[in-house]
Amino acid sequence: MTDQPRMPIESGVPDHFQYMHPLLMKNYGHWAWHDRPRPGVLHHVAHSGDEVWTVKAGTQRQLDVGTIRKLCDIADQYAEGHVRFTIRSNIEFMVSNAKKVKPLIEALTKEGFPVGGTGNSVTMIAHTQGWLHCDIPASDASGVVKSLMDELHDEFVNEDMPNRVHITTSCCQINCGGQGDIAINIQHTKPPKINHDLVANVCERPSVVARCPVAAIRPAIVNGKPSLEVDEKKCICCGACFPPCPPMQINDPDHSKLAIWVGGKNSNARSKPMFHKLVAAGIPNNPPRWPEVATIVKKILRVYKQDAKDWERVGDWVERIGWPRFFELTELPFTKFHIDNWRGARVSLNASTHIRF
Ligand code: SF4
Ligand code: SF4
Repeated sequence: MTDQPRMPIESGVPDHFQYMHPLLMKNYGHWAWHDRPRPGVLHHVAHSGDEVWTVKAGTQRQLDVGTIRKLCDIADQYAEGHVRFTIRSNIEFMVSNAKKVKPLIEALTKEGFPVGGTGNSVTMIAHTQGWLHCDIPASDASGVVKSLMDELHDEFVNEDMPNRVHITTSCCQINCGGQGDIAINIQHTKPPKINHDLVANVCERPSVVARCPVAAIRPAIVNGKPSLEVDEKKCICCGACFPPCPPMQINDPDHSKLAIWVGGKNSNARSKPMFHKLVAAGIPNNPPRWPEVATIVKKILRVYKQDAKDWERVGDWVERIGWPRFFELTELPFTKFHIDNWRGARVSLNASTHIRF
């Protein structure tokens, strides 16, 4: 035993100041104004008179070592050796001289990294983890996002939209993901298929029963073994039972579909934050390029670009013209499934801040 206190092992996010461009560190919190000289470039001026140009480029999301080295070489040769990644996995290079901006953009474009994603563009799609990092996804994330961004390349490198457009994807129905101007989310359409031989060995049955938001799961003995059963009339196919109990398989190549939601936003600029609403469902989950999704997303963007007023986000635009007009303009079919008439939530869904186990 020593008298030295046991110190914590720091394993979280490292202090970012050590990696920061020296001018950003020097002027931290002391910026006077900024503008955007062209799409993909931000220009910040500090009270001290220092100026910094930031060039933003899109990447293919999951980066291999070769690509990271290539980006670092560009940073060393054309920028000033510092980069940072945005929350949407764009990469940003900082330079202190306007003359360095053009050669940097040319070097990035030559290597296939589009410069854009600022202002009223369609910026990089935010996605959840997908097949590479999560154990429950029904679709991929980074691969399909890269494919979809290939289709939206022109909207990334230009700032032609009425306001910024944030697109999100989510590869299950219950966990990560967020509100988006356009959200592409997995939608399960059949209850889970239970492998009764495995349940007793793998699942803690009371916690699985407690997971179900509509109380559709009951303990049962099947073929002489402890297992679970699902009341399929109650089941809303949410998939919440699958993570704690993998033998309750919900992912299915045919019945796990995609749904598109429109009009969500987190920002409270000009109007309150909004939840997105379902506009298209039952779309084939067809990775890696999701062609059916791309067609609908491009159609929504085209109509939004033509019809929205300056500075209206997608949700603001739809609120102004009304949902019937939205469906007319986008030619998306409006079906009975768009009407949210489910009342079970009043008595069964978690509607309080209390944690239940
Ligand atoms: S959305 Fe669901 S499946 Fe996708 S990474 Fe998050 S928890 Fe995993
Ligand atoms: S899919 Fe959702 S609603 Fe259906 S049994 Fe599992 S947890 Fe319950």
